[in-house]
Amino acid sequence: MLVTGGSRGIGRAVAEAFLAQGDQVAVTSRGGGGPEGALDLRCDLTDPAAVEAAFAEIEEKHGPVEVLVANAGITDDTLLLRMSEEQWSGVLETNLTGTFRLVKRASKGMLRMRRGRIVLMSSVVALLGSPGQVNYAASKAGLIGIARSLTRELGSRSITTNVVAPGYVETDMTAGLPEEQQAAYRAQIPLGRFASPDEVAGTVVWLASDAAAYVSGAVIPVDGGLGMGH
Ligand code: NDP
Repeated sequence: MLVTGGSRGIGRAVAEAFLAQGDQVAVTSRGGGGPEGALDLRCDLTDPAAVEAAFAEIEEKHGPVEVLVANAGITDDTLLLRMSEEQWSGVLETNLTGTFRLVKRASKGMLRMRRGRIVLMSSVVALLGSPGQVNYAASKAGLIGIARSLTRELGSRSITTNVVAPGYVETDMTAGLPEEQQAAYRAQIPLGRFASPDEVAGTVVWLASDAAAYVSGAVIPVDGGLGMGH
């Protein structure tokens, strides 16, 4: 299986959870540094040739990718009137177009095997919206369109595609938020706290398991109740 963005945060927790159950795991990131036991590859999702090269290496060492966890993502926040074309396209290129490249390449092998699991890491923000995150929210909402279209395109070949929508999770991505802002977010979360990366990994592992064989096109919140009603 392949977990993108497996060097840190949620992706690393997902990779560790799969490794703990004895799976063969490849992780990718730009900087490298995945968990011990994983095939650790450098691959910038904004570079189509790098994505192709990563798949070629994984297929050579592990065989075709049966489970794809498209987790890597970035933020580049600012209010709409200040948002530059580069900030818009940079986030869309990594989060949405990068995911397009991954699912396209991974589905080749899955179609041949007539099985596969695709899990896309979205965010509560995709459905809730967030000031200062027009680019990020649009990219994460786009993943739902990908997952539901793929469910219709690939579902008959036993390939499921689902979306996980975390709320706030304790990772580098949220560590940079000012403490007052973190406290304001916590006040809106019914469970009153951020998630640990492991709490998101549990849902991803379940989606890849036999127990979830009939779940596809779903958007599964792991958000402590923050997005209830959406
Ligand atoms: P981190 O910032 O901790 O980790 C991001 C990972 O993605 C790193 O491994 C990073 O490695 C990799 N990455 C970033 N850009 C690229 C790129 N262009 N090509 C390849 N790899 C890349 O993020 P989190 O663990 O917090 O988030 C993981 C996912 O979960 C993201 O999609 C995020 O949007 C989503 N999410 C996070 C939430 C949170 O509260 N933390 C809430 C909801 C969703 P490197 O920099 O070396 O490339």
